[in-house]
Amino acid sequence: MAYSYDDQNIFAKILRGEIPNNTVYESDHALAFRDIEPQAPTHVLVIPKGPYISFDHFAAEASDAEIVGYVRAISEVCKAEGVTLDAGEGFRMIANAGAHGVQEVPHLHVHILGGRPMGRMVA
Ligand code: C5P
Repeated sequence: MAYSYDDQNIFAKILRGEIPNNTVYESDHALAFRDIEPQAPTHVLVIPKGPYISFDHFAAEASDAEIVGYVRAISEVCKAEGVTLDAGEGFRMIANAGAHGVQEVPHLHVHILGGRPMGRMVA
């Protein structure tokens, strides 16, 4: 089955500058902004700039440069938020996908959560 990206999703609109956001990091391949409903003291969403729905879509179709750029962006955000293990107390990364993952916005995003101990993972 082919991936079908909806360019009217809210993160596509954020990338086009049609909707405001609280940007914390931007590079050629990624944008990071604070979640509007933060679940922890640090709650940042990191998205690739390309039109990818989910991690599996991204892994299947993104270029190596996009993949490296996205991973580096996630790392830079963690560093800037002070949650890396060399400077802080750690973090959680979550990427929901599709109906079973309960993904609300169909543009790949990694949630970076930190600033307090997380609860145990539950399904
Ligand atoms: O992983 P999932 O798709 O469920 O998460 C979407 C996230 O996007 C939510 O945490 C929501 O608060 C956030 N959001 C946002 N800004 C918007 C719309 C949604 O930060 N304009």
